[in-house]
Amino acid sequence: ATSVAPTDNAKQPQLPPFDYQPKPYNGPLADEIFAKRKKFLGPSLFHYYQKPINIVEGKMQYLYDESGRRYLDAFAGIVTVSAGHCHPEILDAILEQSKLLQHATTIYLHHAIADFAEALTSKMPGNLKVVYFVNSGSEANELAMLMARLYTGNLGLISLRNAYHGGSSSTIGLTALNTWKYPIPEGEIHHVMNPNPYRGIFGSDAKSYAKDVQDHIDYGTSGKVAGFIAETIQGVGGAVELAPGYLKLVYDIVHKAGGVCIADEVQTGFGRTGSHYWGFEMQGVVPDIVTMAKGIGNGLPLGAVVTTPEIASVLAEKIQFNTFGGNPVCSAGGLAVLRVLDKEKRQSHCADVGSHLIGRLRSLMQRHEIIGDVRGRGLMLGIELVTDRKEKTPAKAETAVLFEKLRELGVLVGKGGLNGNVFRIKPPMCFTKDDADFVVDALDYAITKL
Ligand code: PLP
Repeated sequence: ATSVAPTDNAKQPQLPPFDYQPKPYNGPLADEIFAKRKKFLGPSLFHYYQKPINIVEGKMQYLYDESGRRYLDAFAGIVTVSAGHCHPEILDAILEQSKLLQHATTIYLHHAIADFAEALTSKMPGNLKVVYFVNSGSEANELAMLMARLYTGNLGLISLRNAYHGGSSSTIGLTALNTWKYPIPEGEIHHVMNPNPYRGIFGSDAKSYAKDVQDHIDYGTSGKVAGFIAETIQGVGGAVELAPGYLKLVYDIVHKAGGVCIADEVQTGFGRTGSHYWGFEMQGVVPDIVTMAKGIGNGLPLGAVVTTPEIASVLAEKIQFNTFGGNPVCSAGGLAVLRVLDKEKRQSHCADVGSHLIGRLRSLMQRHEIIGDVRGRGLMLGIELVTDRKEKTPAKAETAVLFEKLRELGVLVGKGGLNGNVFRIKPPMCFTKDDADFVVDALDYAITKL
């Protein structure tokens, strides 16, 4: 990579101070765990780092390894730790509930599930008033697919290229990144053009991308579809924002074709984007079904599907049951997450810190040719690295080197996009401006030394 101007950042940046002492760790060390993992865990578990770190403790936006070394967590366990690692108020809620009752089953009553459902629907617009709790994002999208197909009586589902909606055998069909695909039957799924302003052939022209949806319906289906699903900022695909106005146009087209519109808020929900509580609000639409997971539980295995009473009624004919979905501990934790994010004003905090971070990253872009694009909203940002800005050639090898270098410097980021050339910055929402500065300084330093 080349720097367009000499950089003055020759000094290695240091993590911002943080007043916390990790507990002494006397457990097994990384090599031993890694050997066991290779022996006993499935081979498809990819190795993100050449030598994965043994993380033994987490405190808010920081993680600690076996030696007590501190890392800035700019990836939040894949956008999952929303309020912060081991946030004290959420921890208390989980522990209190655990001492009383961890599980009975939803055939009995429990106030935490009912209160959590009420609190969650109070965050939703329109008639999105019925909740189903599940345990993960894939499960949430599975249920949304089922609802869409039953409600409409149609089979075809439309999703965007470069989308990630899960790795279960049905949701893998919606996912449109070949790195995740296996040759299995996927049902009737249509992958339409990704309205990606940076790489898409129509730039930010939402109308042309929407026309592709209409074309798929006209040429590839009977004219009727079950539904359409999209993330408002594609997460795994590399923090790709959709062209402005796209969802409004597409929701109209899909409704006219008899389908329902599903918003996958697994990564974008709960105020992370800063400007809005839900990602779909950025595009001025109200979905028929919203799926969520990850940040909803701050690390607890929890997911949800929220829909209208009318759509939910299609599940009344048979038993729809999920053993752990909304168990008392997860519900108590989820309720505390909602309360904490509001109390700590995390949405406006994300807007504030995010605009500072994106501003600094855009300045960095002026000095480092390798940064091809900086994008995203709030604390859901992507930095796409290219070897040639004009051709937008993915800087795959350089990204891999920088990724390891950032870890050495003490910052853990995510990597994504089809070519693995996008850094994803999606930290716990308590991430500060000092933390943001550290990420930028570490990246500056690492690129300079490349
Ligand atoms: N939807 C989106 C947007 C995701 O990012 C993910 C996971 O990364 C999923 C769905 C699937 O969630 P899970 O891994 O909890 O099954």
